[in-house]
Amino acid sequence: MEPVIIVGGGLSGLSAAHSVLEHGGKVVLLDKKQALGGNSVKASSGINGAGTESQARLNISDSPQDFYDDTVKSAGPELARPHLITALTSNSAPAINWLTKNFGVDLSLVSILGGHSTPRTHRGTGGAPGWAITSTLMKKLVAEEEKPEKRARILKNAKVIKLLQTENKVTGVEYEDGQGQKLKLKGPVVIATGGFGADFSPTGFIATHRPDLVQLPTVNGDHATGDGHVLVTSLPSHSGVLVDMNQVQVHPTGFIDPAQPEAKTKFLAAEALRGVGGILLTKDGSRFVDEMEKRDFVTAKMWEVIQNGNGPVRLVLGLQAATELKSHCDFYLSKGLMRKFANLGEVAEDMRVSPKEIQSTFVAHKSYASGHEKDPFGKTYFRNSDIDIEESFLVALITPVVHYTMGGVLVDEQAHVLDASGKPILGLYASGEVIGGVHGKNRLGGSSLLEAVVFGRIAGENAAKLE
Ligand SMILES: Cc1cc2nc3c(=O)[nH]c(=O)nc-3n(C[C@H](O)[C@H](O)[C@H](O)COP(=O)(O)OP(=O)(O)OC[C@H]3O[C@@H](n4cnc5c(N)ncnc54)[C@H](O)[C@@H]3O)c2cc1C
Repeated sequence: MEPVIIVGGGLSGLSAAHSVLEHGGKVVLLDKKQALGGNSVKASSGINGAGTESQARLNISDSPQDFYDDTVKSAGPELARPHLITALTSNSAPAINWLTKNFGVDLSLVSILGGHSTPRTHRGTGGAPGWAITSTLMKKLVAEEEKPEKRARILKNAKVIKLLQTENKVTGVEYEDGQGQKLKLKGPVVIATGGFGADFSPTGFIATHRPDLVQLPTVNGDHATGDGHVLVTSLPSHSGVLVDMNQVQVHPTGFIDPAQPEAKTKFLAAEALRGVGGILLTKDGSRFVDEMEKRDFVTAKMWEVIQNGNGPVRLVLGLQAATELKSHCDFYLSKGLMRKFANLGEVAEDMRVSPKEIQSTFVAHKSYASGHEKDPFGKTYFRNSDIDIEESFLVALITPVVHYTMGGVLVDEQAHVLDASGKPILGLYASGEVIGGVHGKNRLGGSSLLEAVVFGRIAGENAAKLE
């Protein structure tokens, strides 16, 4: 039996690999880096699921249909693809169930992120969810590799440079190992190489499709150079196509590290920080947006603030919000990305604004939260907003950053890579951030880890059944 070849060892490749094993196949997973994990290990807010056991336990009412509706709204009428959104949302609770039951991942906490109508972003009580989920799947694959049956193999420092094709069928890959040797492997292929959010070369995907973003910092690892996009579109005959390549998500909250403010690669300030009640302030200490709006909206408002000379923008958390997301905040504090102030007066002093003015921002926010007045920016979801200005505050300087690439390889809901006429290319599957069109013009927070798991599982199952 030929193994299924998985290109990329982030969450999607790992999900595909385990799915192959569950469906009786063998698997070889290659990653060009020395360590597996990709961007998946960095994910800090969580993974979406609608209709999960954790939601039921917390009395959160949700359904795949509500999740579908929120995703269509976020994707926009022109770019929403109902068949892909249905695959994502209807498989979301089973994906969460798979991670918790088959792998024992803790996803017991549920929070709300921008653009969602209800809390559905899951994480555990330990560290960052991306690491918690991905490292668990990694360990289990290593354990499979060590079993005498030898159904799984992991090749690190193995960069796939070409897809092999016989007539119209993809039959394997060519890769370069750590010594620069070129080697071949035979079998059906799942591309799970991630996005192109670090491809800033002059002829790269960002320069080609979004030249306006070339100067922006990124939160992506340096592996995210769109290798899978190139592999799939470089097949000698009957090649794949790319869609929505100009749809690049700029996340509003990358940390500006005071020690290296110009750094091209930045840490992400997790969206969960706003979910637990973090608010955004101009340099004068005023709010300017509903912090719970979708990412594209918040980013656009931040650009206005910055271009009007009212930056830098600060993300500010009161004590209750910081306590709710304590492990994240402790990490950001340890890295010097957030600073702690004893009370709001100290924050005002640091910002060089009058304590009265900034105080009035917080008083007004509390009044909007209690329903006495309507928030002028339309905010309706408030959390931890009963902020005591004499208690401590956490403050960070933030800037928009390249975060996620919505465009990519055209697939159907069965993770088949499609050619220009919409026909599946035999022997070729793709999953995770490399695929395009699932999120239209804006991806909802928490839906990328989900996309990695959902389409990874589908791709693995279909590739295993092919042989
Ligand atoms: C800082 C940060 C925070 C995020 N937070 C969240 C969140 O909270 N929730 C959420 O849903 N999403 C989040 N995202 C997005 C999400 O993490 C990613 O979109 C998702 O993990 C992508 O998974 P993937 O498996 O497709 O790709 P990746 O995890 O990026 O893995 C791709 C792998 O492919 C390998 N590879 C690439 N090219 C080759 C090649 N030629 N040959 C062999 N191997 C190759 C890479 O080395 C890498 O290991 C976040 C992203 C970032 C950057």
